[in-house]
Amino acid sequence: MRVPTSLLAGATAVAVVVGVAGTTPAQARTVPAAADLVAADPPEIPGSAALVHLTELNKVAEQNGGTRAHGRPGYKASVDYVERTLKAAGFTVNVQSFTQGGATGYNVVAEWPQGDPDNVVMIGAHLDSVPAGPGINDDGSGSAAVLENALTVARAQLKPTSRMRFGWWGAEEVGLVGSSHYVKSLSADEKKKIKTYLNFDMVGQKNIKSWGIYSDSPDITPIWKQYFDAKKLQTRSINWAGSTDHSPFKNAGIKVSGIGDDADPCYHARCDNMTNVGETSMGHASSAIALVFWKLAGAQRQVG
Ligand SMILES: [Zn+2]
Repeated sequence: MRVPTSLLAGATAVAVVVGVAGTTPAQARTVPAAADLVAADPPEIPGSAALVHLTELNKVAEQNGGTRAHGRPGYKASVDYVERTLKAAGFTVNVQSFTQGGATGYNVVAEWPQGDPDNVVMIGAHLDSVPAGPGINDDGSGSAAVLENALTVARAQLKPTSRMRFGWWGAEEVGLVGSSHYVKSLSADEKKKIKTYLNFDMVGQKNIKSWGIYSDSPDITPIWKQYFDAKKLQTRSINWAGSTDHSPFKNAGIKVSGIGDDADPCYHARCDNMTNVGETSMGHASSAIALVFWKLAGAQRQVG
């Protein structure tokens, strides 16, 4: 961890010289540095900001045969949009490729370069659609909410306790292929460093009646409810085991959670376009993600 490394070195040196009384000088030395960081409250993320990304993903589909499916040019164009948006915000971006069904698929992974690299909190969403349509709720919505969260962390110049990582998965619709590939690509040590993975699939439908909270981690549920209860929004518990990208993480022993709603009249249909999603839903999803993500990662900001 960032702070304890210097703290331990300083405390040891002082203890050797002045013994028991050394605790006071050691504290005096470290407190001013620590006081520069204060807990950061997550912002309300406007739905309009997430809609900007959805509009771009919809355009990508329109320019590429109406779909962003694995193996189609609209998928690679979606990857390019996420990659260049992250790079413009100062992120280092890793595009991981894999092969599925004779076509190349891609994951996009980025990390905010602050906080303890051995304690990672990760958020992610699948970036591919089905061939039938542009996939704006499924799962442009999760992709856009995760992307706007990344941009929000960069704008806030957060100094979190934990490392904040972001993932966009390819080929989810053909069997969670991209997320499975990513998890498999991690060493046992790298898997252990991911303390929590939060997944977002179908979070933007304009008429969400009840926000589904993954049943996997009951200790994280109250944090989600903190957001939705404050807004007087209905929630329910959902078990999406095997049906979206948190599953490979969970199967690897990583703690998972997430939100979503599968009551979508345009599910896997051509009408899953911009008319299927709502600014209000995107704002709630993006802001709820920020609240849970910032809390789990120990979000702090520098003062002075
Ligand atoms: Zn999906």
